[in-house]
Amino acid sequence: MYPELVLDARARLGEGAIWDSRRQRLYWVDIEPGRLHVFDPGTGADVEFEVGEMVGTVVPRKNGGVMLALQQGFAAFDLQTGELSRRCDPEAHLPRNRFNDGKCDPAGRFWAGTISLDREPGAASLYCMDIDGSVRTMLQGVTNSNGLAWSLDGTAMYYIDTPTRCVTQFDYDLRSGRIANPRSVITVPADEGKPDGMTIDSEGMLWIALWGGGCVGRWDPRTGTRLATVRVPATRVTSCAFGGESLDDLYITTARTGLSDSELADQPHAGGLFRTRPGVTGVAAFEFAG
Ligand code: CA
Repeated sequence: MYPELVLDARARLGEGAIWDSRRQRLYWVDIEPGRLHVFDPGTGADVEFEVGEMVGTVVPRKNGGVMLALQQGFAAFDLQTGELSRRCDPEAHLPRNRFNDGKCDPAGRFWAGTISLDREPGAASLYCMDIDGSVRTMLQGVTNSNGLAWSLDGTAMYYIDTPTRCVTQFDYDLRSGRIANPRSVITVPADEGKPDGMTIDSEGMLWIALWGGGCVGRWDPRTGTRLATVRVPATRVTSCAFGGESLDDLYITTARTGLSDSELADQPHAGGLFRTRPGVTGVAAFEFAG
């Protein structure tokens, strides 16, 4: 059985699903047209904000509103007034790059990486914005910076650079935000789609959206084995996040971009927001603490 279509959003590149436990809302973005969405499962309403440029991801912010990673750097966004306040653009010298996926660590730092609009290999990086607003370059030579998650005890960071087809695990120092000792812990076979967005559940297992794979998979990062699959009626599956009061709903975003007319006829709900109850709960997303 397919997940429920909760919003027939027809997003070009729906992405960045993340649940705000405090406000009980699901945030997500449509990257290419630069739209931030706020979905209220209580009413089914989806409020849309035009942010004026491509938006790679969104995270909740402790001091109110959200943080965005945009085509031109990090910014805070006020959901009441729609006001965007820019913070830092570590790639101001790289106009053909934009920000892509990102997430906050358990200490409230905002990690986000980039991608070249021309998909130039190795042209992107992964950054970390600290609580004081300073930005550090954490990885260089990345191509398509995507899913991020932290282990339940905060001692490991999981990271996806999509063309590697791998989840790389780093040792994580929560006090300093330093990463070390990268090793590949999960490899997605070439015919099963490309790993995109990622989240972690309360058992420490990773849920990975498979672009071109038409599904979200659940993996054990300790063994590299795939444990479960949620099939989605759209091939380009981009991100997933646990939400709802008990964090037992899995929200899934999808894309229409790049699909032919006949592919779109076969998957009319591509670009939609989906939801399922996979029988396991997630962990609350971390907010940006700055
Ligand atoms: Ca992505």
